[in-house]
This record gives sequence, structure tokens and C-alpha cells, in this order.
Amino acid sequence: MSLLAAYQGIVCDLDGVVYRGHAAVPHAVEALNEAGLPVVYATNNASRPATEVAEHLSELGIADASRVLTSSQAGAAAMAETLAPGSRVLAVGGAGVGLALEEVGLVPVSGRPGEPVSGVLQGYGPQVSATDLAEAAYAIQGGAHWIATNDDLTLPTDRGMAPGNGSFVAALRNAVEGDPQIVGKPHPPLYLRCAQLLGTEVSDTLAIGDRLSTDIAGGVATGMDSVLVLTGVDGASEAALADPALRPTFVVVDLRGLAEDYAGVAEDDGWHVCGETARRIVGGQWQTRGAEDSIESVRAGIAALQEARDAGAVDQSGAEQLAALLRPAQ
Ligand SMILES: [Mg+2]
Repeated sequence: MSLLAAYQGIVCDLDGVVYRGHAAVPHAVEALNEAGLPVVYATNNASRPATEVAEHLSELGIADASRVLTSSQAGAAAMAETLAPGSRVLAVGGAGVGLALEEVGLVPVSGRPGEPVSGVLQGYGPQVSATDLAEAAYAIQGGAHWIATNDDLTLPTDRGMAPGNGSFVAALRNAVEGDPQIVGKPHPPLYLRCAQLLGTEVSDTLAIGDRLSTDIAGGVATGMDSVLVLTGVDGASEAALADPALRPTFVVVDLRGLAEDYAGVAEDDGWHVCGETARRIVGGQWQTRGAEDSIESVRAGIAALQEARDAGAVDQSGAEQLAALLRPAQ
């Protein structure tokens, strides 16, 4: 059976899954257009307004980009559950933060000294300054409800790693008592709201992503099955070395894998068997049956290595050496 046949709706990450930079990831657009299931596109990126994300998806050829959910929107929705309509909320971050607050009937303000606010919605924006963080700190100390869109510590850019929203949240934490409610991946609120948008049960919803620490960890934390697609940040080696809270339910090379018959892994007499392939670890070495670079063999290897690590049968450096050999043909 294919993954598409096993679920009622899809929550799809964007960067590394649908596009990289501005260009589409190979096979992604076709696979999503032909999926035959409702898809919500969910992103931790708080600074870009959802309408802009939807436009980008349409330009790439996505036929139905009507469901986009950003962490700003998830944060604004959570804020609206706590505050009365029309409440003033300090919007920290890019344009997406303020727009998301307006969409739910709250009033975004940019923070002037002494201006009273009932909430602080903190998202990333390249223009966020020490003055903005100071105003947020004063508001929180004055009792404002604090929500952060996401807590990604770093932001990959084409010049290297920049501090992400989580680093700015940490800066605020140093100044105030308490912690924000965090809605973005790997925390459940964004995924729960996606299921709400799709009208599906969490158990009937499949989360697709390329990062274990956000997309997949978010699935695990929400109780949603997840697919790691190997077109972005994390590869098969990382999946094999991941702690249980970061392990995907399924692994596919690219999104064509959604429509294909999915071969899962079963144990048989010490072997991890997947499709026509099988693997086991003997004396710290792989023993394999079938094509080693097939995705089935890689799935068998991920399961075998995860089990060996859980049982303490391999040490870290041995596990890393075995994991490095798990590379599917593209
Ligand atoms: Mg991604």
C-alpha cells in the first residue's frame, strides 16, 4: 500500500521539501499535485506572510496552495484564544507577525514606550533590534501574555548560520521571569492547527519534512506519523543515529515515494528485512542481502542501527561509521 492510501491529509514542510531557495525540489510539485489528498503547507518561517508563501507555491506550479499555515498564524491563533478580540499585541518580527494578528482580530502594535499591550507575539525578523526586545521585556514584566512563533536557534543563510528566533527568545528569557508558549515545530500547536485546517484526525494525518529536529520531532511530539524526505537537510545517516523522539515513521528518497508501494521493515531471525533486501550488524559490520543502495536496504539499515544503538550493542563511533554507509541511490 502507498502512504497516500494510508492517510487522509498531509502536512508538508516547505524548504528542502517543496523548494530550495526559489527553485522547486525535483519531483515535489508533480507528486503533491497528483497526491489526491488535501495538503496544508506548514512553515516555521514567521516573517513571510502566508499570502506570499502561497504565491511562491503557485509560481512553482502547485495547483492548490490555498492552505498555508505559518508559525506566525499559529501564534496569532493561540493569542486569540487567550485575549479578547481587539486586544493590543506587541508584534516582534517581520511583516508576517503583524498580519497574522490582524487576521484573527487582534491589534498589532510596534511598541512605543509606555504603550500598554496585553500580549507579545515574538517571531523572527531581520530588523528586530535591541530596542524591540527591550519593549517586549517590559511588556512581559508588565503581565503581557508571551508567545513565540518558534525556537529555532539558528537560521541558515547563503553566507552561513545566523541567530534564529530561538536565540532572540533566549535573549528575552535572560531579562524576564518565565517562558513563552512556543507554537512552531517541534512543538505540537502548529501541527494540531494543521490537522484542524485539514479536518483530519491527528492519527490520519501525515507530516512530511526534511529536518529531524523540527519536522519529525514535531510529528513525534504531536502523535502524527511522519515522513523524512531525503531532499533537504537530514539524510539516512542522521535518521539512523537519531534519538527516539526524532525518528521518522517513514523514509523516502523524494516525494515520488508517497505514491509508490511502501515497503516497511520487519524483523526476521536477526535480520531487518525490507522488500527484497535485508541487513544485520555482526561484529560491528554490515551484512546485507540485496542491492545496498536501494531505499529498501537503507530503511532496513536505519531500523537495524536504531535497534542496535537502543540495545547498547554499538558505541557512538561504531554507529557513525555504520550510518555513513547508508546512502540510497538518487
Ligand atoms: Mg525544511
